[in-house]
Amino acid sequence: MLKPSNPSHPNRGACHVPPSSPTGPEFFDHGDLVAVMTTQPLGRSLDYRAPEGGCHPGAFVEVPLGPRKVLGVVWGPGQGDYDLNKVRHVIRVLDAPPMRAEMQAFLTRAAAYTLTPMPAMLRLATRAPGLGDPPSMRKIYRRGEGEPTRATTARSRVLETLEEYGDLSFTLKELADMAGVTPSVVKGLVEQGVVREEDSPRDLPFTPMNPDLPSKELTEDQATAAQTLTAGVTSRQYGTTLLRGVTGSGKTEVYLEAVAACLRAGRQALVLLPEIALTEQFLTRVQERFGAKPAEWHSGATMTERRRIWRMVATGGAQLVIGARSALFLPYRDLGLIVVDEEHDTSYKQEDGVLYHARDMAVLRASICSAQVILASATPSLESWANAEAGKYTRLELTSRFGPAVLPQMDTIDMREAGLPADRWISPHLQAEVNARLARGEQAMLFINRRGYAPVTLCRACGHQIGCDHCDARMVEHRFLKRLICHQCGESKPMPEACPSCEAEGRLAAVGPGVERLGEEAEALFPDARIATLSSDMYGTARALKAEIAGIAEGAADIIIGTQLVAKGHNFPKLTLVGVIDADLGLMGSDLRAAERTFQLMRQVAGRAGRAEAPGAALLQTYQPDHPVIRAILQGDEEGFWKAEAAGRREAGVPPYGRMAGIILSGPDVAQVFDAGNLLARQDAPLRRIGAQVFGPAPAPIARVRGRHRVRLLVKAEKTAPLQDALAQWIAQVRLKGDMRLAVDIDPQSFY
Ligand code: ADP
Ligand code: ZN
Repeated sequence: MLKPSNPSHPNRGACHVPPSSPTGPEFFDHGDLVAVMTTQPLGRSLDYRAPEGGCHPGAFVEVPLGPRKVLGVVWGPGQGDYDLNKVRHVIRVLDAPPMRAEMQAFLTRAAAYTLTPMPAMLRLATRAPGLGDPPSMRKIYRRGEGEPTRATTARSRVLETLEEYGDLSFTLKELADMAGVTPSVVKGLVEQGVVREEDSPRDLPFTPMNPDLPSKELTEDQATAAQTLTAGVTSRQYGTTLLRGVTGSGKTEVYLEAVAACLRAGRQALVLLPEIALTEQFLTRVQERFGAKPAEWHSGATMTERRRIWRMVATGGAQLVIGARSALFLPYRDLGLIVVDEEHDTSYKQEDGVLYHARDMAVLRASICSAQVILASATPSLESWANAEAGKYTRLELTSRFGPAVLPQMDTIDMREAGLPADRWISPHLQAEVNARLARGEQAMLFINRRGYAPVTLCRACGHQIGCDHCDARMVEHRFLKRLICHQCGESKPMPEACPSCEAEGRLAAVGPGVERLGEEAEALFPDARIATLSSDMYGTARALKAEIAGIAEGAADIIIGTQLVAKGHNFPKLTLVGVIDADLGLMGSDLRAAERTFQLMRQVAGRAGRAEAPGAALLQTYQPDHPVIRAILQGDEEGFWKAEAAGRREAGVPPYGRMAGIILSGPDVAQVFDAGNLLARQDAPLRRIGAQVFGPAPAPIARVRGRHRVRLLVKAEKTAPLQDALAQWIAQVRLKGDMRLAVDIDPQSFY
């Protein structure tokens, strides 16, 4: 099978050649048997013959599959276990740089770890629109001169879209879609010169980064940390560092130095952020440091941007990517550093489709390509804290805030003594503190981790609570949208006039607070203040929300009311008071991470206050001021909190000191789902062999989602047990009937 490489081959020059794997061949000649992995759910690779002109290992190809043509990757030499006379030819090699051996290794190991079928894993790595298209010119559309001769709403929408996203380039279809008009509207504007049509090469390299622009002068603490990180990067070896420091201590400043070192070394860098923290503020800061815009990979990116980033990452035309978790699956040519900012953030766990944790996958990827990982957080996850304790990660600390800013003063407000009526949530004490800030021209924030207006809608006549028709969840009133919404499945319906159960009219009452209702209360209590309510569903687009936040940072509001959205990474220099409306909310869950989450969230929220010159304060309203988590937050005793939490988990044998996996069986028929669950539970021999225990089946915490009944089994094993192999054998024993599905969730973070 091993062929000598053929330097005269036409394809060799056209693509960037991946480093040949130590064992595999460097090139497949026409007719060689190759294994092709497709994104079709087949569970394995298929054999084909290399096309005329041959192909490289890793080449993106089009292959026939039954009557269809599908996308695939040449995975290696063919298996040869298929009738050789029936093996078909690869149709064509796509004009894209072949997948590197390192990426293949990453996908293979990620699939094995998460027990994800390879095709599903491969789909994460082929999210490049137009992968098969030749590089070419295309028409793009920009704002031209003047105003339209006749201003129609459709025309204004086009111009507004161009103005809002002025820095992007659009194809005709993208622009028309974004503006919600037909392409002919755009064409009409082109004729008048109001919109310009230009020829542009499809994929341009990004402006080079300049790592040598002056950086801020680092404090001693910061400089020491930066040196350690920089040394890691220049070693060109794998290593993970936990960079811990309170909000405002300069973690970003420090890791940007490591990025600079990486760029200087000619390698690529990736900064992962929780989607919502990908703000203009942050991008501007990166741009100031390196003199050019980084590639920005997130769910709001247009197809054109995605295509460009994918290609440029593969060819080296993008040196720095700032992105959400899926940026891990881009085809980096030479990745030298991955920063995972806010590493404890729950949004790093993908809870849909392929269930992976971006932090863990970053570490895996870096270990394969000899890169460094920096995990930055003010409140690290217990997992990372434990890995640092165990010596697997290096730990760096930034102990003080940069400049005059000091940590906020934290206190509780005992709600048992506040004597509030049932429909009010802002205690007199908190109200007085907010008024004091308003009088000084400072900002205050009221935080509640609940979207919508009220979590429960109750009929005062019959006691009925409106629930979702498809899930075991209450419908949450969203007054801003004038609808009831199920936070599990997204189902929504108009707010009814009459009770759906007893049909009494006008008796439906909102019970409990949500962010919108809190906004209403604040407006009544502080009539002269400018109040901004920040909740994701109140903004049509992520960009609109980002713009709003930027305005608030500059002082466009006096009181900010928000959900967890505002706890992440934003910088409000005038903010000096944070009031947490219900600090007990997070303590109630049955989740093993409930205490950890509450601790992190409270610290983060409190970290919003007093980032600039004015000192900040944080007030937590609670009915349990003596709860150990609340006390640890107040005392700022993080190390103490982690140690206590770690001891508890070690004793219980749960993560990070034991391993867990969730199995969720779902289907339309509840009895069938339970039968399958019981069958699995009985056939637990593969698990028993490794000393693992299985619990359940039990109804999943949310027992019905989108009309599907959900049953959960939990598997618990010792840290060193070969859990994945045992799980694979175990679940292979059941044949699922009809419309039933089984999902494996390794290291589950939540169980909805
Ligand atoms: P973190 O990432 O830990 O929250 P940042 O890096 O965002 O902290 O720093 C907080 C603020 O302090 C930022 O506005 C940053 O520019 C500023 N800052 C941090 N370190 C320095 C420094 N050495 N010199 C000047 N400004 C600094
Ligand atoms: Zn629902």
